[in-house]
Amino acid sequence: MEEPITPEPGCDEALGSGEEGAGEGVLAAVFHEAKRPLEFCLLPQPQLQPRETLVRVVCCTLCGSDLHTIAGRRNEWSPSILGHEILGVVEEVSDEPPLDLHGEPLKPGDRITWSICVSCGRCDRCQGGLPQKCRHLHKYGHGKAEGRFALSGGLAEAILLRPDSTIIKVPNELPDHVACPANCATATVMAAFNAIGSVEGKRVLLLGAGLLGLTAVAVAKCRGAYATTVSDPAPERLSLAQKFGADVCIESSGFDVVMDFSGSVDAIESAIECASIGAKIVLVGSVMKCDDMKLNPEQIIRKCWQIHGIHNYAPADLLDAVQFLREHHQSYPFAELVSAEFSLEQIDHAIRYAEKNRPIRVAVRPGLSHADH
Ligand SMILES: [Zn+2]
Ligand SMILES: [Zn+2]
Repeated sequence: MEEPITPEPGCDEALGSGEEGAGEGVLAAVFHEAKRPLEFCLLPQPQLQPRETLVRVVCCTLCGSDLHTIAGRRNEWSPSILGHEILGVVEEVSDEPPLDLHGEPLKPGDRITWSICVSCGRCDRCQGGLPQKCRHLHKYGHGKAEGRFALSGGLAEAILLRPDSTIIKVPNELPDHVACPANCATATVMAAFNAIGSVEGKRVLLLGAGLLGLTAVAVAKCRGAYATTVSDPAPERLSLAQKFGADVCIESSGFDVVMDFSGSVDAIESAIECASIGAKIVLVGSVMKCDDMKLNPEQIIRKCWQIHGIHNYAPADLLDAVQFLREHHQSYPFAELVSAEFSLEQIDHAIRYAEKNRPIRVAVRPGLSHADH
């Protein structure tokens, strides 16, 4: 039996949201520091400014980065509201309604996903084709929760979307669990593939069979790769990779494409040894402090390798992600990758479950009552 949640009185003031809100307040699970339980707070519902959107969080899957932050393996601003793989429904729009990526005005009831990154569109990086590295970048679920933008992450009943967010309507045929990671894992994988162009007829080596690696297997398969080999130390993840189209017969050299989603320096070093002449090497997984890697410049030159680093993604990659899931989610067991569901009040259980069992994903549903669970 769950203990009833008693939100800390006055913790909305601690987040500095000095605004009189409408309604009863929005329940949020606030991160203060690593290894400490999240704190339940009632935050005021903000009055919307032009082109802002208030979104009800339907479902938020816990990403590896959320778990790393909570466990202290990764640093994050605090206080903050974690959770960025969110599927939401528009609750309220400002008088000047925000537009989705296709230029259509949003309205209450729209089922949406949105880019984790909000870029300014004006700085040199935005203008130079790297909006994901904007000099004024905001990332949902990663920023400090303060002021009228305190509702900035998915571990809450609602989230406030800023103007200039990249918002996409999610087709009804995509189940919640499949749609949730579209704006993190799927879009990042799309950015990796978009960086290297066609993989048709290519031999692809993928390191790491978490959600990104599994998604990449399916993408490589759908885009006509000749063979896709997956490397992961966990046998159960390798058999999962086969369900996503990985080839059973493991190639050991001559790869035209090497993509790392594992972040393991050792794995990357040995994989690069197997890269063929003209190979494209894409590094995605090393998003935490890591050791240096051995890389011989003569090899890079003589083998004409191209090495790409992928961090965050551009709006077009999110569009590709939703499109890909829409077309292919029934051909691969994406829906099975979420192995448990919890209410927002059960967030500590969800975190413990995820750390202990290391499933691909667990989902948090703020609307789920205890009775439903
Ligand atoms: Zn993520
Ligand atoms: Zn910018």
